[in-house]
Order: sequence, then structure tokens, then C-alpha cells
Amino acid sequence: MADTGSKSWAATVLTLYPDMFPGSLGQSLAGKALHDKIWALETVDIRDFARDKHRNVDDTPAGGGAGMVMRADVVGQAIDHVYDADVSNDDPDKMDRRPLIYLSPRGKPLTQARVRALSEGPGVVLLCGRFEGVDERVLEARQVEEISLGDYILSGGEPAALTLLDAVVRVLPGVMGKQASGEDESFETGLLEYPHYTRPAIWEEQEIPAVLTSGNHKKVAEWRRAQSEELTRARRPDLWEKFCKESRQTD
Ligand code: SAH
Repeated sequence: MADTGSKSWAATVLTLYPDMFPGSLGQSLAGKALHDKIWALETVDIRDFARDKHRNVDDTPAGGGAGMVMRADVVGQAIDHVYDADVSNDDPDKMDRRPLIYLSPRGKPLTQARVRALSEGPGVVLLCGRFEGVDERVLEARQVEEISLGDYILSGGEPAALTLLDAVVRVLPGVMGKQASGEDESFETGLLEYPHYTRPAIWEEQEIPAVLTSGNHKKVAEWRRAQSEELTRARRPDLWEKFCKESRQTD
């Protein structure tokens, strides 16, 4: 019989700051799922792979300039250690290689589609940069995929890794329980989500839109859909354009 779903979705994070984990991932939905072994988290301290007595992991940039660069030899050894362990812990025939991702502002922006795709695989190996980043040779030699959280610079890859894992873990089967599996949420439909309301019915003289308390499910769905479209058009013309193009293709 096929071995399905018995193994946890496995994340390994290569970092100079292992104490930053599980951090926020130890709480709430992700924390409960970690406790329930729906997913597993391991950190690897890159400094353990330093070769000299000072345990240096970085050096000055070739060509000069400010800052420091993470050394290819140290990072390369840390990566190889993770994949060697994957192969020896499992039947190599069955081993599905986990994607290796370097969190980097030069990467492809993270999308909900990529989050879903990652959640459907065996797990992920995340490399967190510090300083100016990682020696380019190791990125090329180990076929590292670069993923960015957005067009701004963080001080390190760790908060980006926590964010990526948070997004993936919440869509793993069993994590969100019986509530909607998030399929209605912003980006899943290609649109931003409609606005939400709850009690009290009147707050600071403002009422909840009447259609939502009408009990007419069809009208509610239509109202929500129209709101989603309107919000997307106004706030994210880029998404709106993509959405319109895709709906024309499926017509
Ligand atoms: N010199 C680099 C920035 C280095 S910031 C540049 O100009 O492109 C240090 C580390 O933080 C990076 O190696 C990366 O791992 C992480 N980081 C910074 N901004 C990020 C972003 N927008 N998305 C993902 N990771 C980021």
C-alpha cells in the first residue's frame, strides 16, 4: 500500500540565529500543528560548519565595499549536511527532494500559489542570509531558488522564513480544522477579500450593511463578490488586470 500522509511536512531552517525559532510558529495554529506533528521544524546552526577556530562564517566582499558576505564553503557544508541526512534517514527510492529556498530581496515575490504548491510537497529547506547576503557561487552550485517577501530590506532571512512557514503551515491539511480551508481568502480567488462585520449590530452609530443581516444567502454572496471586485480594482490594479485577463481566457 502506498505510504500516504504518515510523514509530517518537514521544514529545516539554516540560520545563524537558531534561537529565533520556533518563535511565532510555536503559538496559535502553527504551534498546535507543530505539537500535533502535522509539521516538523528543525534548525541548523550555520556556525557549526565554520572551519577556523574563531568560527567565522563571513568575510569581506571581493572587489571591496561595505559589509560582509557569508562564505560559500561554510554555507555549502551546512546545505550538504541537511540533504545527506535526508537521504540516509529515508529509503532513497522514495526520497522526494525538498526544495532549497534562499530568502532574498532579489528573489521571486512569494505568492499564495507558491505557498499552496510548497504545502503539497514533502517540506522545505530554508536558507536565511545575514550581512550583505551569501556568496553567489553556493547559490549557483546548489541550485538554490530565491524567494522574496517584498520590495524592502530586512536585516536577515529569519523573519522572512518565519513568515513563509506561517503561510504554508496554515494551509496544510488539518491545521485550520473544520472552518473554511481559507479558499475564500484574499488571493486564493485572485481577488482581495470582501469586508467583514460582526456584533454589535450598531457601533458608533454605524450599522452593518443590511444585506448581510437579510438572511438571503444568494444576495450575500453577490454583495461579497461585488465588494471583492471593487476593492481589488481600487487597491490592486495589478491583481485586477491579471484577474480580468484570466477570466477572459476561461470564458
Ligand atoms: N545586500 C542585500 C540585502 C541583504 S539583507 C541586497 O541588497 O539585496 C540580509 C539578508 O536578509 C538577506 O541575505 C536575506 O536573507 C534577508 N532579506 C532581506 N530582505 C529580504 C526580503 N525582502 N525578502 C526575503 N529575505 C530578505
